[in-house]
Amino acid sequence: MKITGITTYRHRLDIKPKYTMITALGVNTGNEFVVLRLHTDVGVDGLGEATITVRWSGEVPSGCEQVINETLAPAVVGLEIGDFPELNRRMDACCSRNWFAKSAIEMACWDALGKDQGKPVYELLGGACRPLKIKSRFSMGAYDVERAVGRAKELVAAGFDTIKVKVGTNPQQDVERVKAVRGEIGFGKDLVIDANCGWDVDTAIGCVKQLSDCRLDLVEQPTPDGDYAGLARLRRETGVKILADDICFDLIHAQELIRNDCCDVISVYPGKNGGISRSIEILDYAQTHGVACSIGSNLEWDIGISAMAHLVVAHKNMQIEEFPGDVLGPDYYVERTVSEPIDICGPYTTISDKPGLGVGELLI
Ligand SMILES: [Mg+2]
Repeated sequence: MKITGITTYRHRLDIKPKYTMITALGVNTGNEFVVLRLHTDVGVDGLGEATITVRWSGEVPSGCEQVINETLAPAVVGLEIGDFPELNRRMDACCSRNWFAKSAIEMACWDALGKDQGKPVYELLGGACRPLKIKSRFSMGAYDVERAVGRAKELVAAGFDTIKVKVGTNPQQDVERVKAVRGEIGFGKDLVIDANCGWDVDTAIGCVKQLSDCRLDLVEQPTPDGDYAGLARLRRETGVKILADDICFDLIHAQELIRNDCCDVISVYPGKNGGISRSIEILDYAQTHGVACSIGSNLEWDIGISAMAHLVVAHKNMQIEEFPGDVLGPDYYVERTVSEPIDICGPYTTISDKPGLGVGELLI
């Protein structure tokens, strides 16, 4: 089965007002996606999604569409689907970075391969090593105290056991927000904070120390990109568990994080890391070095979330039981636009056992 062409589509989706995301990167009220159909010589199409957020990866929808159509597609047309090292080699040879654009093509190949073989993607990855029903944490924005407390109460009532609070905006307000949320949820639930690189090292150390009575179960990406020494210092001086996310786009980043003793957990997901096969390289490398991974997110839609979920259930080092991740993206948006969207109910996401990514037809 060979790739014969790619057709791209752009679609803007608003986030439900209640789910508005406020982080160190700004306020997010919606995203414009690039989705694609990858055509093959046997008549099977694969679906892919690039979850574009310019403040996150530097990619913009128009540029993503252009790089897919003018650069990546010509490089991969004619390739036998299933040769993922060659797919990645060809894409890297003509285009630096652009991980989300590359991941859209790569996940579409997995979708086509599964449909052609009549197997869900997780079977192609070696089979499910955990249930198809995944439990996620909930990530709330850097809201004012009143809104944060109200949201925390709702999330606990909805069944979430792990609440993530965004910080990295104003240190004093960050500390007040986290203390208030811990006060609301008590110590029977896990509390994670995520600064999205918004603090410098000294600010991060100061805030974490002020929160020492809050039992931070995990501190996600407190410090800026590239400062491996600073992140290692924070981990050493405070003793908190660190999850690296926004600064780990590829295997070399993961190797540097581990070599510098920066983190206890690495956030891995197909969009950010350039596809399922490259994510597996990071998962395997981290596993070999005794470092856990979990699933991260930048608010995917139905195709992207399905790629994430298949990877979660298929890889042992996606240690979501101890470090729950985010597999809830489509629930943030006002619209679902595939014929068989993945099932999301409160903290639970359940993938189907249908062939490929199992999302049915694209309805846009
Ligand atoms: Mg994150």
